[in-house]
Amino acid sequence: THFGFETVSEKEKGGKVYHVFESVAKKYDVMNDMMSLGIHRIWKDLLLWKMHPFPGTQLLDVAGGTGDIAFRFLNYVQAQHKRKQKRQLRAQQNVSWEEIAKKYQNEEDPLGGSRVVVCDINKEMLKIGKQKARAQGHKAGLAWVLGDAEELPFDDDKFDVYTIAFGIRNVTHIDQALQEAHRVLKPGGRFLCLEFSQVNNPLISRLYDLYSFQVIPVLGEVIAGDWKSYQYLVESIRQFPSQEEFKEMIEDAGFEKVTYESLTSGIVAIHSGFKL
Ligand code: SAM
Repeated sequence: THFGFETVSEKEKGGKVYHVFESVAKKYDVMNDMMSLGIHRIWKDLLLWKMHPFPGTQLLDVAGGTGDIAFRFLNYVQAQHKRKQKRQLRAQQNVSWEEIAKKYQNEEDPLGGSRVVVCDINKEMLKIGKQKARAQGHKAGLAWVLGDAEELPFDDDKFDVYTIAFGIRNVTHIDQALQEAHRVLKPGGRFLCLEFSQVNNPLISRLYDLYSFQVIPVLGEVIAGDWKSYQYLVESIRQFPSQEEFKEMIEDAGFEKVTYESLTSGIVAIHSGFKL
């Protein structure tokens, strides 16, 4: 296992990954915006668009960190539920918009039964996530659980959707994490992974290398005072399997109808699979 520019054992990798995220937690969101020039927001929106959760979806977001996927999910299902209610009310009779607005104020579950559990191995990342949830007004329908993707603290067949965004490359045994994803999903449930991948355009690839190796560690040092963690980030991206290789790993874990979509010339990819 290669970590940064040192060779480390599997056990050490877990510990180092923990310290990387413990150290970057406070600056994690601002660094994400700086390093990706804000594009990570679009990639995350696309993950939600691809998920297209149905009313009442039970989502598990693993390596959920500071909650970006969970908050997008809550906003999505809330808007979806509102639209549904409006359609139903308008269809019933000639109800005024004032009456509809009043009904929403009294509504008990604005999420229409949908729920999300954020699971992450790092309590510092979860702490920042909880602060963000309070600041953004997310109260209901959201739970934070400390746990390892390789040994999830949940029963079998529990969730409709499992997401992992920019998380799986940090896991020591990816095959183990994929098997756990399969175990906790209900039959018919969907696995969705957003992760850095292999760039498929030679020109973009050269620019991307230059940016990754020359700019990202410098940004890490200047903004977060942490060159090493950001050097790790770049190295871990380079070592992650290609789109096709990762697709095979997902299939090996028992998922079916596995597909992927490369975004931004393959800088990232979204993989999808079903437990059938
Ligand atoms: N999903 C969030 C996002 O997209 O902004 C956070 C991604 S962050 C790059 C990676 C996260 O993976 C960190 O919060 C880290 O603590 C978590 N992580 C690393 N190894 C893990 C493991 N074995 N189990 C659960 N979470 C893990």
